[in-house]
Amino acid sequence: MRQKIIAGNWKMNLNIDSGKDLLSNIIDSDLSNECLTIVAPPNIHLNTFKAMLSHTTIALAAQNCHAQPSGAYTGETSVEMLKSVGVEYVILGHSERREYFSEDSLAISYKVNAVINGGLRPIYCCGETLAQRQEGEHFETISTQIKQGLFQLNEMELLNCVIAYEPVWAIGTGETASPEQAQEIHSYIRKTIADVYGEIVANSVSILYGGSVKPGNAKELFNCPDIDGGLIGGASLDASSFATLTTSF
Ligand code: PEP
Repeated sequence: MRQKIIAGNWKMNLNIDSGKDLLSNIIDSDLSNECLTIVAPPNIHLNTFKAMLSHTTIALAAQNCHAQPSGAYTGETSVEMLKSVGVEYVILGHSERREYFSEDSLAISYKVNAVINGGLRPIYCCGETLAQRQEGEHFETISTQIKQGLFQLNEMELLNCVIAYEPVWAIGTGETASPEQAQEIHSYIRKTIADVYGEIVANSVSILYGGSVKPGNAKELFNCPDIDGGLIGGASLDASSFATLTTSF
């Protein structure tokens, strides 16, 4: 059975004190153990938070990494560094990285390789813009992002990836894809994987939905057959909402 996952992407929010408060509240919440809970705080909090998470089953993720192992890359963080503070997952290819930092799927594929080779697990994001959807280009966009970012991996490596479908028009906008729209793309992603890696691999990879998920709309999304949980932005900054999402399957 595929792993159900709720992952909270805190983005560039909260200083150390407010971050610790939120994490303590999440730890003290009634999290369902039917799914894996992941938190992705800013890098500067990772080391402190790992200690806070030591007696919990909550996993720690970074929001990005560099593809190179070390060197003259001012301001960047390597996979080894993330690993050394107990990070297990790395979000890659988030639409904000694609838009504001000009990351394309090829550049992201090098990061995917670095994460996999370092023994961590990528949460690889893909998603179309509003213009691409309106032009009917959403399937092609997703297929290209998935193939360019992930299909250099072998079967075992792909099985260590989590995919997040995040329509750009639904991120932080309050606009959510309908369960039908989300299911259609999740099933398409699975088919795209199946065509190259076979049904067993395709049916084993967890595919999360992201885009304005909140307690009020989570159940209908997570009930879709190909949606295995959520990558959560805004609602992950509220402990009670975030905890509720873990019970929404
Ligand atoms: C995200 O940034 O990954 C995200 C899904 O944000 P939000 O939940 O706020 O739309």
